[in-house]
Amino acid sequence: MKFAIKDNQRILANPLIKDAICPLCKNPVISKCGEIKIWHWSHKNNKECDSFSEGETNWHLEWKRHFPEECQEVIIGEHRADVKIKDIVIEFQNSPLSKEDIEERESFYGKMKWVLNGETIGSNINLFQYEGFYKFKWKWFPQSWYYSKQPIYIDLSYLKSKLALQIESYNQGERHYSTYSTVNYEWMDDYGNIHEGEYPHYETHSVEDTKDEIDNLEKRYSEISNKELFLIKKLSNNGTGWGKLISKTNFLKECEYGYYRN
Ligand SMILES: [Zn+2]
Repeated sequence: MKFAIKDNQRILANPLIKDAICPLCKNPVISKCGEIKIWHWSHKNNKECDSFSEGETNWHLEWKRHFPEECQEVIIGEHRADVKIKDIVIEFQNSPLSKEDIEERESFYGKMKWVLNGETIGSNINLFQYEGFYKFKWKWFPQSWYYSKQPIYIDLSYLKSKLALQIESYNQGERHYSTYSTVNYEWMDDYGNIHEGEYPHYETHSVEDTKDEIDNLEKRYSEISNKELFLIKKLSNNGTGWGKLISKTNFLKECEYGYYRN
């Protein structure tokens, strides 16, 4: 979490601050101020108190900071919403959820929007431009999302740097390029305590080697370079449907004005 409580004030993680508590369960938290992950707080006993919560990644932390501070990590009953702005909750989801989890969260929060990480649960979605919108085929899609009744946005921004690297490598005549990212892990010790952390992850990819493939990558790159979010308008139970691309800036504007159904 980004904010803890100290002397009744919401405060950001800082290695010099001691005795801060979780705003939800009031248990002690410690600051995690390392080099890889954005500074944040973590429960001292490693137990996450919010049953809705998932291991928080840089992706979550990056997204939250686009919103006013008072709209981030808003306590609603026994849960902590990632963002609540103009009575609409926005949940940033990185790991899979069951149909029951999705339904429970939607009925608890009421008006809400989902933003799924395109690099994890929202991966393998292929878009096909079609008369002003996009048809899609979501390969191996997590079927639980078919039951969601709230707007779902898939964050494709991770693709930008990936495609750009690939195109650049091709243009320089290279056969391979490598990426660096951080991978989160969670493990349980013999006492049932959950520990979380992350480690650096390097990967080598081969470069597409025909002109056609590169043209295709360039086309995909230009499609998402300014419109990084894919809003699903219709999702059927076989993982196909249609939707539209929208820029992060417009998404944030819509949130700011309380625009809900799209
Ligand atoms: Zn707590």
